Amino acid sequence: MTQKADTNFKREAKRGSHDFKLACQVLDAGKICHVGFTIDDQPYVVPMAYARQGNQLLIHGSVASRLVNSLASGLRCCVTVTHFDGLVYARSTFNSSMNYRSTMVFGTARLIDDPDEKRKSIQALVDHLMPGRRADLRKSTIKELNATSLLSLPIETFSTKCRTGPPSDSKSDMDAPVWAGVVPFELTAGEPVDSPDLLPGTVRPDYL
Ligand SMILES: Cc1cc2nc3c(=O)[nH]c(=O)nc-3n(C[C@H](O)[C@H](O)[C@H](O)COP(=O)(O)OP(=O)(O)OC[C@H]3O[C@@H](n4cnc5c(N)ncnc54)[C@H](O)[C@@H]3O)c2cc1C
Repeated sequence: MTQKADTNFKREAKRGSHDFKLACQVLDAGKICHVGFTIDDQPYVVPMAYARQGNQLLIHGSVASRLVNSLASGLRCCVTVTHFDGLVYARSTFNSSMNYRSTMVFGTARLIDDPDEKRKSIQALVDHLMPGRRADLRKSTIKELNATSLLSLPIETFSTKCRTGPPSDSKSDMDAPVWAGVVPFELTAGEPVDSPDLLPGTVRPDYL
């Protein structure tokens, strides 16, 4: 029998949480995840787009994808979403750190084969990744839908870890005459770049 993932925090357990709402906040704030799984004793960690829908994580890929087919056949996985929030400059190398939020979801994904659920799941992905975009796009064709596999991973076994705030220096380092603090990092959208073959007069939508 396969063992359930161990989600007990070992180091810096005070930064850990099993709160569903907090996990949802971390998941909803991201666009990419890393999907970890093992085939023939070889671990793989694959970056993917994702969306959360209620208590499910949705990922998609080509019907020919090894990852998708492996997970669809019941291979256990771990999906991690990470936000890098800052570099923590402490007064020693040892206490230097990063501010972050990360959530790990463990389990077995289900292949979504009901056409209606599949279409809705693709819509949820588009709404999460490119909010506002869906209304402007044509419907996916049957051929396109058939070329895409959708997987749903229940957010049941999960953990979240966050570090925030200033450095935690040792008392013995507090006299060091070096700067200490945090340099925040943030992922932001840049200025949109028009496609070179844009139809003349096409207006940039507000949702960009
Ligand atoms: C951006 C970033 C950078 C980091 N850099 C480092 C680094 O350089 N060195 C370092 O030691 N640690 C780093 N960490 C923390 C690292 O992710 C682990 O939390 C840490 O190594 C503790 O491991 P452990 O052996 O105690 O826990 P494990 O025994 O490996 O974990 C036990 C369980 O705790 C939960 N858990 C552990 N870590 C996380 C997490 N990050 N998010 C959600 N759940 C978690 C999982 O459910 C896991 O199964 C970083 C985290 C982030 C997000």
